[in-house]
Amino acid sequence: MAENASTDLLWVASNRSYNRGPSQSKERFHAVHTPILLKQQRNELNVSDSKSPEKVIIIGSGPAGWAAAIYAARANLSPLVFEGAITNENSQNGTLPLGQLNLTTEVENYPGFPAGQLDGFLNSALSERRLKYDLPPVEAEKHAVTGPELMNLMRQQAENFGTRIITDDIAEVDFSQKPFKLKPLAGEEVEGHTVIIATGARANYLGMPSEDAFKNRGVSACAVCDGALPRFRDKPLVVVGGGDSAVEEATYLSKYASTVYLVHRRDELRASKIMAQRAIDNEKIEIMWNSQVDEVLGDDENGMTGIRLASTVDDSKKELEAGGMFLAIGHTPNTSFLNGQIETNDKGYVVWKKSFRTDTSVDGVFAAGDVADDNYRQAITSAGTGCMAALDAERWLADQGLE
Ligand SMILES: Cc1cc2nc3c(=O)[nH]c(=O)nc-3n(C[C@H](O)[C@H](O)[C@H](O)COP(=O)(O)OP(=O)(O)OC[C@H]3O[C@@H](n4cnc5c(N)ncnc54)[C@H](O)[C@@H]3O)c2cc1C
Repeated sequence: MAENASTDLLWVASNRSYNRGPSQSKERFHAVHTPILLKQQRNELNVSDSKSPEKVIIIGSGPAGWAAAIYAARANLSPLVFEGAITNENSQNGTLPLGQLNLTTEVENYPGFPAGQLDGFLNSALSERRLKYDLPPVEAEKHAVTGPELMNLMRQQAENFGTRIITDDIAEVDFSQKPFKLKPLAGEEVEGHTVIIATGARANYLGMPSEDAFKNRGVSACAVCDGALPRFRDKPLVVVGGGDSAVEEATYLSKYASTVYLVHRRDELRASKIMAQRAIDNEKIEIMWNSQVDEVLGDDENGMTGIRLASTVDDSKKELEAGGMFLAIGHTPNTSFLNGQIETNDKGYVVWKKSFRTDTSVDGVFAAGDVADDNYRQAITSAGTGCMAALDAERWLADQGLE
């Protein structure tokens, strides 16, 4: 099978220096890697190669998209995946191909990947091209699989079973008629009998350069994913937000941290009464009322070491020592390209119309992963619903006699 060598990326460590502290395993191996597009994006598979109308078109390239692709490909549906475009906008939004996990370092909670000597496995499982261009050199040292490693493995697995991949965004859809019409950013329209939306949801950040500088080196948007890592243990930690998820994250982190500062702009939490009371009652949680983060503090050697807080009611500022900062100010599901054609909930997430099925409000369109999940938002749940969506699409095609 031809290699879908669609991304001429070279992953290079950004200017940030590596933290090689012995207790900070997640940082030890990889600094934040920034994709740099060396040459013009080159699609070996053109949309004109499309077997229009396609049986299954998958939009998105996180765990949900690749799990859906693996299942659909193994069912001989020859899925076509739009994995996202390599653009500055996607880089800034954290929506480049391979999804959110590609932005993180070690993933300790994805079943099947205990820390180990992964270099031999990765070097044999991944194509030379992916090893050369899409990953930093695989560390020989024992480690838990990193996000980029896991995502490249998933993509490779989908490709091995015959998935066709186009490195582009779907910019517009027309779900008003069948087959459905999808318009990529560049290139011709494609048609599909079924569509699986697996475009994820991006975490909201405050948008400060110092916050960006310490992402993966203290700054995180996922306490459940990162909270148990050694670098956060027994240290003061900061949670930003005032809603239910902020309280949930603070409560979760209080199991590991020495203190959790819950930074909130107002003098009252937005969280439900019961959740707010839980935060107030927790001895390890200190609520920093009427406060906002003014700057994330730190250095190259240690990563984040604290924050500067600014009052929202006067001009006062103060510094707090902290080993980590967790953003809990919401997520934005990547649904703008749907242009209102699929029902979403009040937070903008795609709504599943049937219990324990991935059907959306449009017959023949399915959704999987974070884009339809405002609750769990984990790699394993995304992969699980990706599998469900592929099986739902396969059954739908069979019912229509289109298999
Ligand atoms: C920093 C960080 C660390 C995390 N760590 C963990 C962890 O340790 N364990 C864990 O279980 N979870 C972790 N998560 C959560 C996990 O990454 C997500 O739950 C998971 O990636 C969601 O998968 P998904 O397939 O739904 O979508 P995503 O991973 O969000 O991927 C969707 C991708 O689809 C593509 N896309 C978007 N729009 C379009 C479009 N219009 N056309 C074509 N393509 C498009 C983009 O490339 C986008 O990135 C972490 C998240 C973050 C941000």
